[in-house]
Amino acid sequence: MATCRGRVLQAISKCEWTLLSPFVRRLSSCNVPSELERVGFIGVGNMGFHMANNLVNAGYKVAVHDKNRDAMKKFLEKGVVAKETPFEVAEASDVVITMLPSSSHVLDVYTGQNGLLHGGSLLRPWLLIDSSTVDPQTSRRLSTIISKCALKEKKGYAKTPFMLDAPVSGGVLGAEAGTLTFMVGGLEEVYLAAKPLFLSMGRHAIYCGGPGNGVAAKICNNLVMAVSMLGVSEAFCLGQSLGITANTLTKIFNSSSARCWSSDTYNPVPGVMEDVPSSRNYTGGFSSKLMAKDLSLAATSANEVGLKCPLMHQAQEIYTELCKEGHEYKDFSSAFRHYYPGKDEL
Ligand code: NAD
Repeated sequence: MATCRGRVLQAISKCEWTLLSPFVRRLSSCNVPSELERVGFIGVGNMGFHMANNLVNAGYKVAVHDKNRDAMKKFLEKGVVAKETPFEVAEASDVVITMLPSSSHVLDVYTGQNGLLHGGSLLRPWLLIDSSTVDPQTSRRLSTIISKCALKEKKGYAKTPFMLDAPVSGGVLGAEAGTLTFMVGGLEEVYLAAKPLFLSMGRHAIYCGGPGNGVAAKICNNLVMAVSMLGVSEAFCLGQSLGITANTLTKIFNSSSARCWSSDTYNPVPGVMEDVPSSRNYTGGFSSKLMAKDLSLAATSANEVGLKCPLMHQAQEIYTELCKEGHEYKDFSSAFRHYYPGKDEL
């Protein structure tokens, strides 16, 4: 089986590497590089709206598309161009970014009727970035399809179009504040070329390796997030049952070996921290529905590589149950109240 580095090197030799390098050098010297100037953005929901908005504010010429017309209205009011189909977006763009709910939506936007690939194997944009959280297999499949396409107009720096998978961490608040972290898979030189875009929407962009590695990193990150949130919630509940307040336990965790993001930044116990979902009835965060989706992506991937992941399966069961009980739109830290019998801190 080809290693990740092997896959990257193979891809590099395929795509006129030497032509791309001067392009990357040129990009480092200006704010909105002309090769990235016209950005198409597809999927302007909770996350995509803010991300596209930050690109508009950074000076990019943005064209948007969403199958929900109401989502596009907010852009029309700002004078941003709205397109009827993904293909129309592609025809007007140097770069197309997708931010869609799941793999099936991404495949539909790429390969469906009037999708990005509607024109066959000739593409207008030289760069396609998918920021949706999908499974690595879907990203790799699309990346292979794109690598077999050609550009409608050669732009001097690349003969073929490129694809990056670049899912994000940071949630809706991070999208709005422009502080997201991008985890990027694909060719490294292409990642470097696209970095100004990432840094217009986020604070960090981390290169993860070949195609699909960005989404692989994202689902691993969310697996840790789910398991550590459940571990912390379980411990707070046990503590409360044994007569220790969550405030006391939080002080202990945060100054000892149990400290983690779920204890010091995103505490699940209402009344312990301000400005976190637990302080506002678990609203306005990362939903249990999205967590269940990410855990199912992780489970599919683990299954494919034959890896035993008992904690992942337990976490998946818990979040699936929370969703079935009607808490799917509550923040995932609500497991403390709705799965465990956790009590508010008075
Ligand atoms: P969302 O449902 O709010 O937005 C998705 C948008 O895509 C919607 O406006 C929808 O109308 C549009 N859409 C769906 N199918 C389409 C199609 N075929 N053509 C055009 N538009 C279509 O979702 P979101 O919360 O913005 O999440 C987007 C992605 O980001 C997901 O993959 C999610 O897992 C990931 N993510 C979300 C968060 C979060 O906190 N919300 C955090 C990190 C990552």
